[in-house]
Amino acid sequence: MAQQIYKDKKEELSNQIKLEISTIISTAEYMLWIYPIKPLSYDGQQLCFSAPSDHAATTLTTNYTDLFLKVIGDLNLPVERILFISEKEAEKLLSVAPPTETETLSSEKKNPFVSKYTFENYVVGSSNRMAVVTAHTVAENPGLNDGLLSLNPFYIYGGVGLGKTHLLHAIGNYLFEHRPELNVIYVSADRLSNEYFSSLNKYNSDKDSYRNFYHKYAECDVLMVDDVQFLQKKGGLQEVFFHIFNDLYQNGKQIILSSDRPPKEINDLEERLRTRFLWGMTTDIGLPEYETRINIIMKKLEGSSAQISQDIVCYLAEKVNTNIRELEGALLKVLMYTQLTHKEATLDVAKEALKEHTKDTVEQIDSDKIISTVSDYFHVPSSDIIGKKKNKEIVEARMVAVYLICEMLNLPLVTIGQIFGGRDHTTIMYSRDKISNMIASDKDMKTTIEDIKNSLKCR
Ligand code: ADP
Ligand code: MG
Repeated sequence: MAQQIYKDKKEELSNQIKLEISTIISTAEYMLWIYPIKPLSYDGQQLCFSAPSDHAATTLTTNYTDLFLKVIGDLNLPVERILFISEKEAEKLLSVAPPTETETLSSEKKNPFVSKYTFENYVVGSSNRMAVVTAHTVAENPGLNDGLLSLNPFYIYGGVGLGKTHLLHAIGNYLFEHRPELNVIYVSADRLSNEYFSSLNKYNSDKDSYRNFYHKYAECDVLMVDDVQFLQKKGGLQEVFFHIFNDLYQNGKQIILSSDRPPKEINDLEERLRTRFLWGMTTDIGLPEYETRINIIMKKLEGSSAQISQDIVCYLAEKVNTNIRELEGALLKVLMYTQLTHKEATLDVAKEALKEHTKDTVEQIDSDKIISTVSDYFHVPSSDIIGKKKNKEIVEARMVAVYLICEMLNLPLVTIGQIFGGRDHTTIMYSRDKISNMIASDKDMKTTIEDIKNSLKCR
């Protein structure tokens, strides 16, 4: 049985990784190096691929291992190490000692958390300090509720790629090391939903399937659910989760939740769940400031042999200010580019390497692009749009920019507030609704919005 799962698992992991890599590197490069490799074995930690030749195996090992590990980290896959060997070598190994994949399964408890997502590797800045401190406290005292201070549930929210998943795994890794007796579960809301529906589907053939599902989650010591916004619109699952939550809470078990938005902004969430999400501690993770971005790059370079000069680090930190995942991607691009082209990592080479990266992001519409388009349209500087001035024309441009960002980008209101110089989410909501009402009643405003949208598409 276990063998069956693992057999499928290596294919599944390989497919996920290859698919993600295909979106990062050029098609030519992908077809040359990545496409031909095949998953050979997976023992719960190490994923081994076979490559068509010795040369390919060596190239993959030297030039692509980091990329694989990065993608594995991004996708949160349960893989610690990657190995490439040639087909010839693989045949030799297989004929000597056919490794049955069950053999490698040990009865020892395996750490299910991504090993590099630790507190040590997490850079602290003003954008995430509160979240990190709370996460630490929770990791040290899971389930703490002394009447005065309750950190249960602990709810973290913030935009994409700002470090929520990393923080949850850091708590997991900490508990795995310090409290190995505890049953700590990390699950994404998506996965929870899949498991729930599949347990219902299996109900006819296996009467225990649903019960097993329920007990697995309701009887653990620490339950971490990532991206709870995906509970939206899932009525049945919300009902079950409500009961799981109550069981855990009443037994003093720790619940940790993450989301891209605060509880009150999760639409279609049962009110009783929303209320419970607010019982404990809610903290947000904001956009990292320049200093933090620099520190993050330095952290990622720690322990790597790559030589990257300070001016490249500053260039990257300046250029990529949206989220940390993008920042890592840009750094990796520079590293890969210098490796593949054997060029020295100068600032010009870094710029060259990021040409495509910046082009990719420009093609997408983002908040900067919306603000600069609105700025051109109203002849008001971008700095005033996100600033504090209250002149009539600036205020109008600002509200239009807020409206467009709300409508065109699926960002939490809190994040939008941060883009506009730390404004409160209620101010953002006010601007959005005001312009929305004006569009309905005022023809000029309707045309303005349409013109700006068209001009955005042409940029
Ligand atoms: P989210 O879950 O919020 O979308 P992730 O936790 O997946 O974001 O983070 C994206 C990437 O950025 C990960 O590789 C993570 O290690 C890295 N990262 C995020 N925040 C930090 C930080 N403060 N210090 C170091 N790395 C970080
Ligand atoms: Mg995440």
